[in-house]
Amino acid sequence: MYATLLADTRFHDLLLAIDRDLAAACQAAGCELCGGARHSARYWRKPRGRPCRLGPEHDQRFSFCCDMDGCRKRETPPSLRFLGRRVYLAAIVVLIAMLQHGVTASRLEGLAQVVGVDRRTVERWRRWWRNMFTATPFWQTARAAFMPPVEHDRMPATLLDRFLGSQSDRLVALLRFLGPITGGLSHPARLRRGHAR
Ligand SMILES: [Zn+2]
Repeated sequence: MYATLLADTRFHDLLLAIDRDLAAACQAAGCELCGGARHSARYWRKPRGRPCRLGPEHDQRFSFCCDMDGCRKRETPPSLRFLGRRVYLAAIVVLIAMLQHGVTASRLEGLAQVVGVDRRTVERWRRWWRNMFTATPFWQTARAAFMPPVEHDRMPATLLDRFLGSQSDRLVALLRFLGPITGGLSHPARLRRGHAR
């Protein structure tokens, strides 16, 4: 059951480890504008929906700032933990939105309560998945890789179904897939589009 996964600190440690790798690759690439070095400029988030016994390192979004005077371009790498500016963990936004399918209402209410999501938020996330996510240029391109086509009306469950392995493997694969739309401060337009928390 996915609720167990969300409560498992090892799962969150795995997401953090992958985010560290993505951040290291971003830093190694250097500034895309001037070739300057990228210095750490991580910032604090207050993510909701994760186990409270995780350390403070889980509350930081990795980000970098070019060290060249006159440039200082910020770059925020993709993340498997943070989906744009949403206050809830990306995994929560995936799982809560799909719980409707094949899951009893009481179980949905149980998990939604555990992570503190009200019904209106759940509805908003569902609409985001079906209407806004499916309209993004990212998905318009990426969808071609799925054959047969992914049904939009049961997103994100239909998308998660396309990844293989254990529950953890599939969720991690989906979160990794979403990386390009997890937003950075260097992509304000994307952030605004994904702003519906
Ligand atoms: Zn630069």
